[in-house]
Amino acid sequence: MGYWKEYALKIDERGFDDIDKHICSECVEDEFLKNWIEENSIETGECDYCHRIHNIVPMEDIMDEVIMKTIRKYYENAEGNMHWDNEDYEYWGSTYDTEDVVGDFAEQISSDQQVIDDIINAIHDITWCKYDPYGMTEREVCEYSWKSFSDTVKYKNRYFFLQQYDDEDYERYSPLSILSIIAENAKTLGIIKTLPANFDFYRVRTFNSKNEVLLDDANLGAPPKELASTDRMSARGISAFYASDKLETSLKEVKNKKPNHNIIAFGKFNNVRDLKYLDLTDIKSRSLPSVFDLNQYTLREAILFLKDLNDDLTRPIEELHEIEYVPTQIFAEYFKFVEHLDGIKYSSSKDHNESCYVLFFDNEQCIYDSKKESWRQNCELKLVDANIIKK
Ligand SMILES: [Zn+2]
Repeated sequence: MGYWKEYALKIDERGFDDIDKHICSECVEDEFLKNWIEENSIETGECDYCHRIHNIVPMEDIMDEVIMKTIRKYYENAEGNMHWDNEDYEYWGSTYDTEDVVGDFAEQISSDQQVIDDIINAIHDITWCKYDPYGMTEREVCEYSWKSFSDTVKYKNRYFFLQQYDDEDYERYSPLSILSIIAENAKTLGIIKTLPANFDFYRVRTFNSKNEVLLDDANLGAPPKELASTDRMSARGISAFYASDKLETSLKEVKNKKPNHNIIAFGKFNNVRDLKYLDLTDIKSRSLPSVFDLNQYTLREAILFLKDLNDDLTRPIEELHEIEYVPTQIFAEYFKFVEHLDGIKYSSSKDHNESCYVLFFDNEQCIYDSKKESWRQNCELKLVDANIIKK
């Protein structure tokens, strides 16, 4: 084969024309791209964008090795992958031009418009569609399955939903599958953690009159089952210990809940052993792996899904809409009974920068009975301080 024919084939296959320029790490935004340039640079010279002397790589190399690979992970040629409608003379589904596609990554690639323009002009002008245009990504399947699970347990089937199977026709996981996928993702991301013994938990209770106030563990701990009301992570009748790591946060949580209760007391409890818990607050601050780091694609998708899920789990809910708590209550029970966790840490709906805990301990497990031998003790949380803070 002659040189030019071979060259034309190469250009055709890689999907972009030559860009006769070099670029340095200062002229790209994304950390992965910066590192890639530093690691793959074999010469120091003038960057064609900032015109300074740096370690540089040919634009073609970074296009071929990184940028086109990433674009092809998310988009593909509509021709051959989408159905063409001969009557309306268009594809079935959304299509994109090269400018749209590059625009999707432009912010991460570079703030220098010349870099973006060079990339757009070099890529062959084809009609693009999303990768696998009629299917869903794993993240979309998870999001759809979680939504479907929430709707099922709220409006259709609250107690026998575990009988459902994965639905391959509709690309939907069963309720049990989606819960176990969430748990697996949580393990991969390391957000199932251990809290050492003697951690300070603050729990606040309000009282109607002074005669009611009893500052002991039975009264300041988790409510007895008869009084356990519907809450974010526990259903009516199922007692759980809701608390915070700061007194101020616990106060914000109870504010305006019972307007006629004007006496506020707090109890500080310590866990007697190490606790295993799911830390949903960690997911909020977790940074995403670079979109160009295709080895981390699955992890990136898992984080994105858990971030959305966390927003859904911790959104403020008006008290009257008890039904909205059903999915999170089942979610919590899954982690309690299937994953054997002691609790969940989540963002306070009153202040998203502060944390709340639900520990799966009932009233009895907050009571320390000094008359019992240690092996008979059922106590998980010990009251270490208590007082009235406002009258
Ligand atoms: Zn530069």
